[in-house]
Amino acid sequence: MAFKIIVCAKQVPDTNEIKINPETGTLIRDGVPSILNNDDANALEEALKIKDMYPDTHVTVVSMGPPQAQEMLFECIAMGADEAVLLSDRAVGGSDTYATSNAIASTIQHIGEFDLIFAGRQAIDGDTAQVGPQIAEKLGLPQVTYVEEFSISEDMKEITVKRQLEDGYEMIKIKTPCMLTAIKELNEPRYMSMGGIFNPDKKIKVVSAADAEVDLTIVGLKASPTNVFRSFTPKPKGKGVTVEGDTEKEIAKNLLIDLKKKHII
Ligand SMILES: Cc1cc2nc3c(=O)[nH]c(=O)nc-3n(C[C@H](O)[C@H](O)[C@H](O)COP(=O)(O)OP(=O)(O)OC[C@H]3O[C@@H](n4cnc5c(N)ncnc54)[C@H](O)[C@@H]3O)c2cc1C
Repeated sequence: MAFKIIVCAKQVPDTNEIKINPETGTLIRDGVPSILNNDDANALEEALKIKDMYPDTHVTVVSMGPPQAQEMLFECIAMGADEAVLLSDRAVGGSDTYATSNAIASTIQHIGEFDLIFAGRQAIDGDTAQVGPQIAEKLGLPQVTYVEEFSISEDMKEITVKRQLEDGYEMIKIKTPCMLTAIKELNEPRYMSMGGIFNPDKKIKVVSAADAEVDLTIVGLKASPTNVFRSFTPKPKGKGVTVEGDTEKEIAKNLLIDLKKKHII
C-alpha cells in the first residue's frame, strides 16, 4: 500500500519586503509578494525525498487560506507533490491558531487516511509554532517538533528523527502515523521542475468548509479565543557606542573604564 504523506503549507507575505505603517502600527501588505512559508518548503522537501526513495509514496499538500494561496500550492506541485487541497471559505476567516488547527485537522480527516503529517515548525508571519502541535493533538497523533534529521525504516513503520534543542539534540524513534514539524536545518528545498510545472494530471482542489465537513462552531473569528488588543512598533533603540583602542587589550581596558564610570561594575 502506498505511503501517504500530508504536508501543511501556508502562504505568507515575504517578511523581507514588509513595512510597518508608522501611524497605525499595522503591516503594509499592499504590493508585498506572497511566498511558500520557509519551514513548510523544508517539510515538503523531506516528503519528496521519501517519494524519491519510495516512488509509491503519495504527497498531498494541504493549506487554509484565500483563493490566491493556489499560487503557492502550484509551486508545491511543481516541486513534486502529487496533489494539493486548499480550504478556502469566509467562515474560517479571522481564525486564530486554535481555530486554524481545528479547520486544518478537519480538512485532513476529509482527505482520508495518512501515515505521516509534516508541517513547518513556524510560519514567518504568525510566528507562534502552535498550529502543527495543535493539529497533532486534535488528531490524537504522537508528534515531534524541531526535526533537523529524518530517516525511515524500510517497512515505513518507524521513523528516527534528530530533534533540535537549544543546547544539543535528542534522537527519537516514533511510529507512524505521526506528526513532525520541520526546521530549516533539515534539508535544502528543491526548485520547481519543468515536468512538475507542465504536468496536467496534478490538481489543486479547492474545498469549502461544508465540503470538508468543518464544524463551524470551532472555526472563524467568533470561535477564536485570542483577542488582539493593540499592535505597535517598538521604538528604535538609541545609537550604540563604539569603544575605541589600538589593540584588543586596550579596547577591553577602555570598556572597563567606561563601565566603571557609569557605576555598572
Ligand atoms: C484574532 C485573530 C484573527 C486572525 N485572522 C486571520 C485571518 O483572517 N486570516 C489569516 O490568514 N490569519 C489570521 N490570523 C492569523 C492566524 O491565526 C495565523 O496565521 C494562523 O493561525 C497560523 O498561525 P501561525 O502563523 O502562528 O502559524 P504557526 O503555528 O507558526 O505555523 C506552524 C506550521 O503550521 C502550518 N500552518 C499554519 N497555518 C497554516 C495554514 N493556514 N494552512 C496550512 N498550514 C498552516 C504550517 O506548516 C506552519 O509552518 C488571525 C489571528 C488572530 C489572533
